[in-house]
Amino acid sequence: MTYRAPINDILLALNHGAGLKAAVAAGHYGDFDGDITEAVLEEAGKFASDVLAPLNRVGDEHGIKLDGGKVTTAPGWPDAYKRWTDAGWNAVSGPEAFGGQGLPLAINAACTEIWSASNVAFGLCPLLTLSAIEALEAHGSEQLKKIYLGKLISGEWTGTMQLTEPQAGSDVGALRTRAERAADGTYRIKGTKIFITYGDHDMTDNIVHFVLARLPDAPAGTRGISLFLIPKFLVNADGSLGARNDIHPSGIEHKLGIHASPTCTMTMGDQGGAIGYLIGEENRGMQCMFTMMNQARLGVGLEGVGVADRAYQQALAYAQERRQGRAVGEAGNGSDPIIVHPDVKRMLMQMRAMTAAARTICYATAVALDVAVRAKDATVQADAAARGALLTPIAKAFSTDIGNEVAYLGVQVHGGMGFIEETGAAQHYRDARITSIYEGTNGIQAIDLVTRKLAANDGASVWSLLDELNGIVKQVEVSNDPAFGTTAAKLRDALGSLERASRWLLERVASAPNDALAGATPYLRLFGSALGGCYLASEALAARSEASGDHGRYVTLARFFAENISVQATSLEKTVTESAEAVTGADAVLIG
Ligand SMILES: Cc1cc2nc3c(=O)[nH]c(=O)nc-3n(C[C@H](O)[C@H](O)[C@H](O)COP(=O)(O)OP(=O)(O)OC[C@H]3O[C@@H](n4cnc5c(N)ncnc54)[C@H](O)[C@@H]3O)c2cc1C
Repeated sequence: MTYRAPINDILLALNHGAGLKAAVAAGHYGDFDGDITEAVLEEAGKFASDVLAPLNRVGDEHGIKLDGGKVTTAPGWPDAYKRWTDAGWNAVSGPEAFGGQGLPLAINAACTEIWSASNVAFGLCPLLTLSAIEALEAHGSEQLKKIYLGKLISGEWTGTMQLTEPQAGSDVGALRTRAERAADGTYRIKGTKIFITYGDHDMTDNIVHFVLARLPDAPAGTRGISLFLIPKFLVNADGSLGARNDIHPSGIEHKLGIHASPTCTMTMGDQGGAIGYLIGEENRGMQCMFTMMNQARLGVGLEGVGVADRAYQQALAYAQERRQGRAVGEAGNGSDPIIVHPDVKRMLMQMRAMTAAARTICYATAVALDVAVRAKDATVQADAAARGALLTPIAKAFSTDIGNEVAYLGVQVHGGMGFIEETGAAQHYRDARITSIYEGTNGIQAIDLVTRKLAANDGASVWSLLDELNGIVKQVEVSNDPAFGTTAAKLRDALGSLERASRWLLERVASAPNDALAGATPYLRLFGSALGGCYLASEALAARSEASGDHGRYVTLARFFAENISVQATSLEKTVTESAEAVTGADAVLIG
């Protein structure tokens, strides 16, 4: 089954739930007035349906090959990538000074969802290039920008992000790849990286690797890490490609999902060391990498949304076709489509509502990151930066958990056929699984939320967000619309739980860190459940006030989320605040 981008849902989420329209109206987006948003998304949706979605299965079945030191992608992949870059899709949010279109990150976020929904293994490649662009733009020398930025923005070359080594996964500070200073101001890099996405491929002439390594005199841990740009092919002064650099794919992984995305072991130093160029300052590589990682974390959250939406669309279509049993009260022979059964309706509503909530959380993150750099006023910028920082781990972890859960339900709606590969439901389930692991596992995101984002300014970012969310609930109350059911009451309860859990954690981050860490994952879920519910309510209110013909469906969706998912906040609060002892005392069970 093909994929259709849900343009109306995306526009409502972007403009209203995520606040793009209000930010544009407040002048935070400069010249951008939002007029072209719909047209861009329509075109993206068309490209995704026509070109990328049909390759999704091909990529899954064919996978990739490593032969003679070269990786080849699935049939049709290089051509699709060329068409995609020729159409300008890689350059959507790139800086205009280097050939980009300078559109907001928020528009690109919606596009990222669309690429991921149609073909997540394909969309992953430009997602990393985008992160590389961010790091180079923010931290690279003018000379490096001149050589590499334009080609990365157009997509003529792709980027990789190379942190992981066998002994250094979540613990990046344990990495051992070595960098030595050369007399000409460049560096020679030697070492092995594992799990490198699109570490090699046949879609572009050159690949620009962003590699973390350690200088001989570097301090231990993350304070001794530097970031290097290492091109696959060196670039001559006239911009043409020169010698092959000493960085090669030495293995590829056989994986549960995203079969079409090459996951490479990369070896540097077989011929004396890969020539690398320093990005930023020596030993300050983690700062540069964080620029890339934040961007990539949002992108991975959007992968979760994309896969979820694709799984939902497919399950909905199946539920309308597959006939089993009769609706309650129907007599006679024959059977009804399974969508008549309340349990199937519930699964589908849960899929749709969770996807919609995750979508808006991701878009709201993108809007905050946009305003943090585009607004004229420094205070507005700083507030938006704090909001973006707070939302990033939620966007990543909540949305990818949702991606997994929705894909799981997608298989369930299909019954036995969901377990059979030919329906495609199983592929979504397999593809979704990695999203909660890479770019910092969801456990690490939850820790980041509690120990850095919540604690950063004594909770100020959370309190200001809570104020806004309480304002949305007030509007639901004022609307007096019975179609909202108990939405307002449920959301109030959820926000109360969020506030109490936040205070409980804040008190313990420093004084009882293990208690705070034990509650991190349920806290992130609580946060997403309360936040997502409020965002969906604000979208329903906006649809009502625009008197859009189908506003009733958005009210029902918001109500479903509040009454079925936001209500979990109350028990999650208890998990955070009352179960730490059982977790910290777990050694008695786990170790004995
Ligand atoms: C398909 C794929 C593509 C990838 N692409 C890239 C890439 O392009 N570039 C790159 O550099 N890497 C990439 N990775 C690596 C990926 O980012 C890591 O796998 C991930 O960061 C987790 O590291 P790990 O696998 O070593 O797990 P570990 O760090 O060993 O974690 C194992 C478990 O322990 C938990 N854990 C670890 N430390 C802590 C802690 N301090 N507190 C609480 N819990 C903890 C984790 O949450 C996890 O549940 C990729 C991986 C895969 C599978």
